[in-house]
Amino acid sequence: MSRAGIVTVVGKPNAGKSTLLNHLVGEKLSIVSSKPQSTRDRIVGIRTEGDVQMVILDTPGLLNPRYALQRAMRGVALQALQDADVVLYLADASEGVPAPLETAAELPQPPRAPVITVLNKWDAIGPEDRDALTASLPDAPRISALTGEGIAPLLERVAERLPESPYLYPEDELSTQTLRFFVSELVRETALEQLEEEVPYSVACEVEEYREDRSPVYIRAVLYVERESQKAIIIGHKGQRIREIGRLARAKIEALVGGPVYLDLWIKVLANWRKNPRAMQRFGYRLPEERPS
Ligand code: GDP
Ligand code: MG
Repeated sequence: MSRAGIVTVVGKPNAGKSTLLNHLVGEKLSIVSSKPQSTRDRIVGIRTEGDVQMVILDTPGLLNPRYALQRAMRGVALQALQDADVVLYLADASEGVPAPLETAAELPQPPRAPVITVLNKWDAIGPEDRDALTASLPDAPRISALTGEGIAPLLERVAERLPESPYLYPEDELSTQTLRFFVSELVRETALEQLEEEVPYSVACEVEEYREDRSPVYIRAVLYVERESQKAIIIGHKGQRIREIGRLARAKIEALVGGPVYLDLWIKVLANWRKNPRAMQRFGYRLPEERPS
């Protein structure tokens, strides 16, 4: 009998959740960025190997709700926790001994599923820190999501905790999300990489048109910002920055779809969209209040 189930990866922003997911699924599905909190949506990667299928959820950073955007992110993360068969609580080992998940995430009760606390970035710490962490968390797997060190034994531990079950998805399916979504994430990621502080969290991206029947594939994407001043920053002097974003994003999209792409990139202002529930939903954020029960 095969095993299959949902593995939810949680942790503070920057712990390495997206890096781990990319490593597990082997494709660039989730955004990796040195800027915290860049993963806003719940991303499903699927890993099928041997007779084990893991449906992997990446969560936005669990943190205190300060304004609407963060509240929505927390709601998504909490839901992913409830859905899990196994929870991987990823901690940045260079930050010392992590607080228990319930404390760190201020959970009303511990998740139903078993929680494995994982010490990531093991490659980045010295022998003394390693000894201290080993002493206080002897059972925690030590891994490097970046190099792949320690991931194989971690996967064995996860597999043991998954229920016996037929596969939940076809074997060759990498993700249940559409290509459109990944394209919009790649464009947003590229914009984040090219931008200064402040602007990043104000950027959303929507793919308005995706025509596979043309060669090259035609994609019209719109970057949304909250203010005219941000639009000017993204456009840059004589349009230099937006052209660069378009060029770099197109290269990433071509790698993803495996062929030539024409990226028609626009930028629009949607005033204060982060405070506007309708706009949030349109960009794929679920507000916890509005989730059907
Ligand atoms: P997330 O916010 O939890 O999704 O974290 P990311 O996956 O975006 O990673 C945040 C940063 O940590 C990126 O710069 C990664 O390259 C880096 N990182 C992730 N895993 C490791 C690791 O195992 N070792 C080291 N040295 N850096 C890592
Ligand atoms: Mg992430």
